[in-house]
Amino acid sequence: MTTMQEQTDLTIDFATMSNQIMERVDVLALHTEQEGMMTRTYLTAAHRGAAGQIAAWMRDAGMTVRRDASGNVIGRYEGTDPGSPLLMTGSHFDTVRNGGRYDGPLGILLPIGCVAEWNRQGKRFPFAVEVVAFCEEEGVRFKAPLLGSRAIAGTFDTRVLDNVDDQGITMHEAMLGADLDPVHLPTAAVARGKIAAFVEVHIEQGPVLQEEGLALGVVTAISGATRYMLELEGVAGHAGTVPMMSRHDAAMAGAEIALFIEKRCNAAPGLVGTVGQFTVPNGAGNVIPGRAIMSIDIRAGEDTLRVAAADDITMEIERICARRGVRANVKKTYEAVSVGCADWLQQRWTASLQRHGCAPRSLPSGAGHDGMIIAAIAPIAMLFVRCGNGGISHNPAETMTAEDAALASRVFVDFVENFEVPAAGQA
Ligand SMILES: [Zn+2]
Repeated sequence: MTTMQEQTDLTIDFATMSNQIMERVDVLALHTEQEGMMTRTYLTAAHRGAAGQIAAWMRDAGMTVRRDASGNVIGRYEGTDPGSPLLMTGSHFDTVRNGGRYDGPLGILLPIGCVAEWNRQGKRFPFAVEVVAFCEEEGVRFKAPLLGSRAIAGTFDTRVLDNVDDQGITMHEAMLGADLDPVHLPTAAVARGKIAAFVEVHIEQGPVLQEEGLALGVVTAISGATRYMLELEGVAGHAGTVPMMSRHDAAMAGAEIALFIEKRCNAAPGLVGTVGQFTVPNGAGNVIPGRAIMSIDIRAGEDTLRVAAADDITMEIERICARRGVRANVKKTYEAVSVGCADWLQQRWTASLQRHGCAPRSLPSGAGHDGMIIAAIAPIAMLFVRCGNGGISHNPAETMTAEDAALASRVFVDFVENFEVPAAGQA
């Protein structure tokens, strides 16, 4: 069917492609609210500038582009038939304050680069490929995260439209100002079953792949989390006069609890526990702490691991406090179950990795992602790309290499070119 000349055209220059991806990440980073910092929050001028730039790149790659009612920018690369099933990919283009430039944009710009190559080759698949640039994932401006994916999943909670930003502007007003009418939000929803799979390429945002010398990993699940606020009440006293044996020190009870959390979460791979806040209200250098307040955050890819750890920790809090004569008030503030990546999609990612000489490596995602929302309407999976600088993210020091972008592009192309839409009732 094809001539020799056309066959040579079918090779993709991944080094050039990955250099362009890295350049575009830098260009997108110019769309920021704060000079010299990467800050791009929902529907600010910087955010709208970035949306326009992404749409232009999508068009250049041969996609038709639309903006949905929440502000998601969606590029569609049509399949062999207009009615073809849909493979959806993408990531978010909002950021935290003073964040990194790869968190999100990599998962938008990498697939755009791949689609451009398929378009150049005239290659079509028996499914359409849509690249979604999710408008909002981090929840910075209006203290409500995952807005873009919630719009697509049909689970956008319209109560957040009344949330205000630091300037007192409501989300509702910000949307109208960006020519988005919240009344139309339901039109952004995609029915369950319409998306054959949703896959996201994202930087790992952690050190695991770097420490193991691996460029890529397949995500098993987006971790569930349990969070508590713990208030400890002991007896305040004079630091010089109360003998050690007679004390009911709230902070020392908290310290013992924190060390138990560290030990307990060390005992199982995939389980993490963090005490991120620890305060002694009205504390003074010469007063035995009568009160202490601490946060507890427990996460794991497997819910059974997390629940068992949470149970052990709450029981240990009781034991420690009983022994020390300290009262504990444990309040659960948040609980989310983990969202599993579809086994059949994980297997396909792993096969693509192995075809490109990568050791198979699976790991859970400790951070939340749009996929956990999209999972309500479609099977999801993720490919993690190694971060440099010890895996630091949500930080200007976030980095990755062009070589890893090239390898991730190869694996992404392989994944899509070998993708088969499962028959109804399968997967
Ligand atoms: Zn992200």
